[in-house]
Amino acid sequence: MAKIEVQLDLIRKYNVPGPRYTSYPTAPHFNEQVTWETLLPHIKTNNTPAQSDTPLSLYFHLPFCRNLCWFCGCTNVITQDSSSSPRYFDYLRKELNMVAPLLNPNRKIIQLHFGGGSPTFSEPEEILKLGGWIHELFSFGDSYETSVEVDPRTATEAKIKAFAEIGTNRASIGIQDLTPEVQKAVHRLQPHELNLRTLEWLHAAGINSINVDLIYGLPLQSVSSFEKTLDEVLKMKPDRFAIFNYAHVPWLKKAQKALTPLSPEVKLDILKMTVEKLTGSGYTYIGMDHFALETDELSLAQRNKTLQRNFQGYSTHSGSDLYAFGMSSISQTDSAYWQNEKDLNEYYALLDAKKPVQRKGYLLSEDDKIRQQTIMRLMCDLELDYQVMSKLLSIDFTHYFAEELASLKEMQPDGLLSCDENGLKITDLGRLFIRNIVMHFDVYLKKDKQRQFSQTV
Ligand code: SF4
Repeated sequence: MAKIEVQLDLIRKYNVPGPRYTSYPTAPHFNEQVTWETLLPHIKTNNTPAQSDTPLSLYFHLPFCRNLCWFCGCTNVITQDSSSSPRYFDYLRKELNMVAPLLNPNRKIIQLHFGGGSPTFSEPEEILKLGGWIHELFSFGDSYETSVEVDPRTATEAKIKAFAEIGTNRASIGIQDLTPEVQKAVHRLQPHELNLRTLEWLHAAGINSINVDLIYGLPLQSVSSFEKTLDEVLKMKPDRFAIFNYAHVPWLKKAQKALTPLSPEVKLDILKMTVEKLTGSGYTYIGMDHFALETDELSLAQRNKTLQRNFQGYSTHSGSDLYAFGMSSISQTDSAYWQNEKDLNEYYALLDAKKPVQRKGYLLSEDDKIRQQTIMRLMCDLELDYQVMSKLLSIDFTHYFAEELASLKEMQPDGLLSCDENGLKITDLGRLFIRNIVMHFDVYLKKDKQRQFSQTV
């Protein structure tokens, strides 16, 4: 991929609040009217014998962290008490016992992800126990991907080995920023030696596919400080980068009130430097904060149009349904989304009472499904072929979306996309503004004027 030259005036023009589209409709639309009883027929239809060949993705939310990073937007539980984790795993088993029998036993897992919180908070024996349960209750495909989010501050060699032993082949290392002043300002002290040590343990355990998470927009960052972070991390030769735009939402995350976010000007300069540096260093800008080596599966999947996007970001596994376990986790089938109870004690109480832990949900209308597919294909493929989309969605695509396609044309003079009667293509520059582009297909956005989102760029 050619190096992307970033124009700051365009970033300023398009830097408006907007959703991140890990789902469509987005999570604020999930509601308590959708109960477990409402969802059961959908889960049943999703697991008939006819669905035996539809693969499964599983997600396990492991919420514990030792300290709160003040920028954090995840659903976590901060504790120093190491007995929290074994107790939580006992409850995960109860949830597995309740949900696993509902799934078609012939369906194969192609993707398994441990997220958090900090999955590396857990001890090796707990990790091995959970892996054992998953392998006991589900079947796996011939090739599957298992990934884990790794916090170098709580990782140990034994924990990494335990994850490798249960089949983990991908790791995402949370680094965020290497500058000591920035680390201090955001309450996350993490000397680089810990990252390098963790990388060595991962390689020694055979976990060779590495992603690094960084964040830009944090207090005290500058273009030169973040460039130093990038240069150091590039030496680690990660296959992928997730470089998140710090989402300042203090009305949702109270700890963020302690942070003074970076000025938009500096933030945009950092983004420009980052995109230019990484696309000039052999990485493809996949879109939405994600970069991958040109030879990485993620880049290949994007070129082959098999890329998918779900709650964990981009994935190479298309066509699977996502069943998620643990507090706050979100599941997704072709016709529904649902989210588990977010409060840990309430999650435990429900399981003690042998009640379902699902709290909210959303049932997709036909229009939702059409818009969901359109938004996801555009975010993954960066283009739409109207004939292909018409066939895929059983609609006359240009007629159905006449208004949206007409409004998108306004972005053409800025060089973000090109369109003709056959389809539309997002340009390399347009990848930076993908959220703004897909927002045109979101029918709820006009009604969502009162909701507060993070900035799109
Ligand atoms: S370790 Fe991760 S999940 Fe935990 S507080 Fe920090 S950023 Fe949030």
